Amino acid sequence: MDICILTAESLGVRGLCCSVELGDRKIMIDPGIALGWSRGGYLPHPFQIAIGEGIRGAILRDLQTATDIVISHFDGDHTPLLHPNPYQLSLEDARRSISGCRLWTMGPERSSPNQQRRRKDLEDALGRILTPAEGMRDGPLAFSAPVPHGLQRDDAHTVMMTRVEDDDGQTFVHASDNQLLDAMTVERILQWKPDIVLVSGPPLYRHRSPSLERLKELARTNILELSRKVETLIIDHHLLRSEEGMAWLERIGREASNRVICAADFMTRAPLFLESLREKLYSWLPVPANWHEGYAAGQEDAASFRNPGWEILTGEGIVTPCDWYPVCPIKGYTDQGRLETFWVDNYCMVGSKRCVRYRMEEKGLFHPDNMLPDGTTREGL
Ligand code: SF4
Repeated sequence: MDICILTAESLGVRGLCCSVELGDRKIMIDPGIALGWSRGGYLPHPFQIAIGEGIRGAILRDLQTATDIVISHFDGDHTPLLHPNPYQLSLEDARRSISGCRLWTMGPERSSPNQQRRRKDLEDALGRILTPAEGMRDGPLAFSAPVPHGLQRDDAHTVMMTRVEDDDGQTFVHASDNQLLDAMTVERILQWKPDIVLVSGPPLYRHRSPSLERLKELARTNILELSRKVETLIIDHHLLRSEEGMAWLERIGREASNRVICAADFMTRAPLFLESLREKLYSWLPVPANWHEGYAAGQEDAASFRNPGWEILTGEGIVTPCDWYPVCPIKGYTDQGRLETFWVDNYCMVGSKRCVRYRMEEKGLFHPDNMLPDGTTREGL
């Protein structure tokens, strides 16, 4: 089973999208993306917007070869949208790819009016009724009954979890947005006997004492319980929107029985906490007044902030580019505008050890110039 996480706060954007490839199936879970609209009074920095554009393009490319799409719930960072803001994924852009896939989505019953409307938008765009997937099984896939979205106990805020098992018995669970605050949800995950779990942590940035302390203790108990039986526990999303959340995860990781890591660790690359860095990005790279209005109108381009942003993050020691970057053909193709920036942004600049080119370089194995970091080759480069 090959699991590739595409969106998460430790990867620079909001979401918990991943692709899981096994046998003849490629399952895309939660194909959506967002940037926190306003943090500390600041709109998303254009550098973060440039990184988000690259990831949005990668989701759309991955959707073209997907066989199955899972939508755990219809929040705007987990699904394509009929009316996206400038930083989200457009349903119109994704529609053609989605229409050829098996779709496994949470039903409308236990969700908010907004979520129900987005689900209906998807049905209308595809011209078919979507059967609720809760409790269903299909080959390697199984879906949970609705579980609470965080502490919410009302029927309007639930999410669906996904279990994927390969022929060797390796089992992955995607458990978005439960925030690790509900013991029953943790118990359900453990009943599935997973080896790897991808889950959202608690949104510490939204709380102040005394509710913050209660929240932390609830989540800590649940994480330690999960980590006793799960080999690799990947915690990201809501938790990693603040520096406090990052420090807290590190502390829990030291207490845990098994590996407790963030999405960037799982992808063996440097983390990029752009939402928590937003204020600093504005001081390092000032943004002209009314830039966002211009961007929304298609009159401004985030691309010009990309290279200066990387130079600053490298200078600050926040990222260390791959040793091979200065001589790698992937850099040349990207500089010439012949290759999407996604590869440099998500492999080269963050020192990815998952890069197939990197691994082959280290072993002295031949690989063609047009091989991309994921091991596929691109004709015409
Ligand atoms: S493509 Fe791979 S080997 Fe080349 S610079 Fe990027 S991470 Fe390194």
